[in-house]
Amino acid sequence: MTQSRLAAIKDKIATYETTYGRDRGSVSLLAVSKKQSLEKIREAYAQGQRLFGENYVQEAVEKVIALSDLDIEWHFIGHIQSNKSKLVAEHFHWVQSVDSEKIVRRLNEQRPDHLPPLNICLEINISDDPNKAGVTVDHALALAQFCQSQPRLRLRGLMTIPAIESKEATVADFSAMHALFTSLNEAGMGLDTLSMGMTGDFDLAIAKGSTMVRVGTGIFGERS
Ligand SMILES: *Cc1c(COP(=O)(O)O)cnc(C)c1O
Repeated sequence: MTQSRLAAIKDKIATYETTYGRDRGSVSLLAVSKKQSLEKIREAYAQGQRLFGENYVQEAVEKVIALSDLDIEWHFIGHIQSNKSKLVAEHFHWVQSVDSEKIVRRLNEQRPDHLPPLNICLEINISDDPNKAGVTVDHALALAQFCQSQPRLRLRGLMTIPAIESKEATVADFSAMHALFTSLNEAGMGLDTLSMGMTGDFDLAIAKGSTMVRVGTGIFGERS
């Protein structure tokens, strides 16, 4: 079951790369495994999947420990409460949901010295939605510069969850993300990762320059 779904998502990514004039292999796949079993993660791993994303700190840390025999690159993509930032700094390779100076500072201080710098994406509230997490476009450059100044962090890119009211709204948000990504790179930020696109909209994201799609239900089925 997972096999056919995972293979089908990989095929679609390859097809969209071609359709939208993207380089072959330029879009990586993060398998979002929140609320999915260890067995399903092992199954996807056995089929070659290496990047996995989790949202809830306690659930995630238990999984990271239980699966430490596997060579997984773990991405934290959920909301980070200050009192949980240390666990995130200790157990993950990437954090994609960074949206404040306070969290940047804590992750830098809490990243253990024996581990390489923690890879960071800033979460952008691209539609300026008061109900959403993320830094606004206006503050993105300042936060990126601050993040870049931290020795235990490595700023890699931007992440967003777009508006989903309509396809037009989603496309507008993905376009605005691409513009922001370009302008931060023109300002010298050296970003290589534009994380956008989920099960329902990764085609639109690839069309607008996504370099990493985050797919959960499309690979694993409904969450329990
Ligand atoms: C849950 C989640 C996803 C995956 O969503 P699906 O619709 O299941 O593909 C991607 N990104 C974030 C930030 C999520 O929280």
